[in-house]
Amino acid sequence: MLDALALRAQFPGLSGSANGKPFVYLDSAATTQKPLAVIERMDYFLRNEYGTVHRGLYARSVRSTQLYEDARATVARFLNAEVDEVVYTMGTTDAINLVAWSWGRAHLKKGDRVLVTGMEHHANIVPWQITAEITGAELVACPLLDDGSLDEEAFDRLCDERVKLVGLVHIANSLGTINPVQRLAARAKRHGALVLVDAAQSAPHLPLDVKTLGCDFLAFSGHKVYGPTGIGVLWGRRDVLASMPPWRGGGEMIEKVTFERTTFAKPPARFEAGTPPITEAIGLAAALEWLMALGLANIAATEHALYTYAEARLAEVPDLVRYGQAPQRSSVLAFNLALPGAHAADVSSLLDMQGIAIRAGHHCAQPVMARFGVPATARASLGVYTTRDDIDRLVEGLLKARTMLAM
Ligand code: PLP
Repeated sequence: MLDALALRAQFPGLSGSANGKPFVYLDSAATTQKPLAVIERMDYFLRNEYGTVHRGLYARSVRSTQLYEDARATVARFLNAEVDEVVYTMGTTDAINLVAWSWGRAHLKKGDRVLVTGMEHHANIVPWQITAEITGAELVACPLLDDGSLDEEAFDRLCDERVKLVGLVHIANSLGTINPVQRLAARAKRHGALVLVDAAQSAPHLPLDVKTLGCDFLAFSGHKVYGPTGIGVLWGRRDVLASMPPWRGGGEMIEKVTFERTTFAKPPARFEAGTPPITEAIGLAAALEWLMALGLANIAATEHALYTYAEARLAEVPDLVRYGQAPQRSSVLAFNLALPGAHAADVSSLLDMQGIAIRAGHHCAQPVMARFGVPATARASLGVYTTRDDIDRLVEGLLKARTMLAM
């Protein structure tokens, strides 16, 4: 088990106060605070090692290129993948757009289907709708059960030979549901569909192994794994990436350019046009090294215990309605206070006055809100630095907020 209290000392962003009260940060599902290991690595790189990559023949550029490519190898180790299967992107949204634009436009046609779950983030819905519009393919969503888990019988029915790609969120940011990706991927494979896993929420919380998951694509964001913004990853199976045309043109992604014709580099360079986020890649690698040193299995076990504690404590708050009670769930606690006129935003504001940061809104998952018949929910989410004391402050804050809202 990890000692969250001891880990907090490594996060300068958690110290200090908010609205005059000690700061409680419960919005790690939106973005995580950064450990010194990341802040100091990026600072050192910018001060001492920074240069462009892949272009310069001088020592600084060679060093920078080496570090940038070493960072790719760290990502590969984090996912148990091969280095040339790791494409740097700007984040999860960018990674899924890459697949929808490149793979989708090249391989989808009228009559084909893309099957997603009813608990996807908009990032795994909208790119497919845009591609469907262009290719004539159809986007289909598998319904959810009342507890927020996937209706697997419906999934089996929907997952037929028309489905060419299945998009699965690993942990739903709106509900905390952990989808049985391995099992669902195996079913999708029976009909030859490719499987894309949105690991934006699972990458900081669960060990990831693309070989065990049995998927073809996996996407995650740097800023949710304690790394910087502006960088993310698309992992793609080597042969699948090789079958995909470029999606953005420019420097770095070519083999040879003439005015008559351009030939393209092999993946991953084919998908990385322009000067990349170099410092961010170094920061991402520092974050992943830091996470791997803690141990993802350790993180999962520690957070599971805290999650159980948080659920038990939230159950003490009268009028609190929870969303997301799937048997397998983690890291995200969505709720509302069922009082007349009490909106999730009010709950968030009243907590903010007490120094407690949570998220309120539709969490970029409007279909989930529609499924549960609410415009919005309040959401507290956990990180490696979250303590029982943070949860106690949340519960205390909610009890106060309830009293104020009931007046
Ligand atoms: N998918 C899920 C499940 C998410 O929670 C998020 C962000 O909240 C995203 C995708 C999009 O990630 P980003 O905004 O970093 O591209």
